[in-house]
Amino acid sequence: MTAEYDYDLIVIGAGSGGVRAGRIAAGFGARVAVIEENRPGGTCVIRGCVPKKLLVYGASIGGDLEDAAGFGWSVDKAVHDWPALITAKDRELDRLESIYRNLLASAGAELVAGRGKIVGPHQVSVNGREISGETILVATGGTPNIPDIPGLRQYAITSTQALDLDNLPDRIIVYGAGYIALEFAGIFNGFGSEVHLVYRGDLPLRGFDDDIRQHMAEALANRGIHIHHGETVTAVRQDKKRLAVELSDSQVILSDQVLAATGRVPNTQGLGLETAGVKMTDREAICVDNNSRTNINSIFAVGDVTDRINLTPVAIAEGHAFADTLFGQKPRQANHKNVASAVFSQPPVASVGQTEDEARREHGELDVYESRFKPMKNTLSGRNERTYMKMIVVSSSQKIVGIHMVGSDSAEIMQGLAIAVNMGATKEDFDAVIGIHPTAAEEFVTMRTKRQD
Ligand code: NDP
Repeated sequence: MTAEYDYDLIVIGAGSGGVRAGRIAAGFGARVAVIEENRPGGTCVIRGCVPKKLLVYGASIGGDLEDAAGFGWSVDKAVHDWPALITAKDRELDRLESIYRNLLASAGAELVAGRGKIVGPHQVSVNGREISGETILVATGGTPNIPDIPGLRQYAITSTQALDLDNLPDRIIVYGAGYIALEFAGIFNGFGSEVHLVYRGDLPLRGFDDDIRQHMAEALANRGIHIHHGETVTAVRQDKKRLAVELSDSQVILSDQVLAATGRVPNTQGLGLETAGVKMTDREAICVDNNSRTNINSIFAVGDVTDRINLTPVAIAEGHAFADTLFGQKPRQANHKNVASAVFSQPPVASVGQTEDEARREHGELDVYESRFKPMKNTLSGRNERTYMKMIVVSSSQKIVGIHMVGSDSAEIMQGLAIAVNMGATKEDFDAVIGIHPTAAEEFVTMRTKRQD
């Protein structure tokens, strides 16, 4: 650490990765500035995971109300107050934002409001002044990508606006079938909007295990979501007070909102990266090595801006490893293996490790265990929805390399299973565990019969 520079570390972006890196580095005694042009907390806290999950909780109560009659409840015409929910959610975000501010302040990192731009290997301009740092960390995240289709960019909302709508739309078209599309389809459906999910593939959730995708497509339709697979949006135009959304099969759907959930791109525009000579990928993400270092020795990057695994906990792990390595004399790298993730759709999906296809390509012969059952709750609720679980085991070693689930509590269940998979658990290890009865999770330790292919 040297007085040659104004700071030891300048972080651009006060999201999950940037804040973690900044406050850990400051905790080691580094002089840290964290530059943020919006609200500290970033995508996850302000316009992603947190507000989304609050809305998911609210929407899932819609499902519970439907299920309640089977348990003897009579719920007459439940009424939902959307603006009240948005106000409550905003209050919670204000609270979290101030926690983020305090985290930085109490660690001794300086939060600088403004837009940072790299102007040299150690120089960043912010608010018309130039500051210098021995190390620069770019943690600017990603931003929604809307395809260039007539009217789509003009009329569509993204997940950011979907979290802040003044009114619940009567009808909404959700374009895409990834994490964000499925989560928001579930949110709006749960609150009573008519939801149309339009996607170009045959099945939703590309990249997930094919059986999960198949099961999920059926579950979404079963929940009353109108599925338009193998379709693209070809045009959007205003039609009096609604939007006319034209699909590739020439069908036109009138809708109150169109949500473009068509992926996200790294936030690298206007950051001065080209001027500094930082190498980028074809997708305009920052290229980094396993230590999150770019080709410029003094410049590092973590989180979605590097387009590795675009999940908050991964950005946090990368930011923490970076700070430990550079400022704490504890060199280490973030673990990118067996990262579990969940889609908070309704029902939710969760997954760790390889899909069956990936595992087959890497390991050859597999033992696949599956379970498809009606959860106990649905016996009385009458909901016609099944849980699906799948475990992928390498035949020769009996090592479990993938676990996947669609159903209630799948995200909560998967976190513990991820520890086992990460530790290299075998099928025998799972078989040796006594289940907790009655739960859905116990299925994972009682799977006995291999799928016969
Ligand atoms: P995803 O990559 O998950 O999904 C994008 C969807 O948009 C896919 O269905 C894709 O179709 C479709 N699409 C992309 N481009 C086009 C196009 N030009 N025309 C039509 N369709 C298109 O992105 P999301 O935006 O849902 O989420 C971004 C990332 O954020 C996720 O990958 C995830 O890493 C993270 N995230 C994680 C969450 C969680 O952990 N719960 C929640 C939300 C986001 P196709 O498959 O055919 O390419």
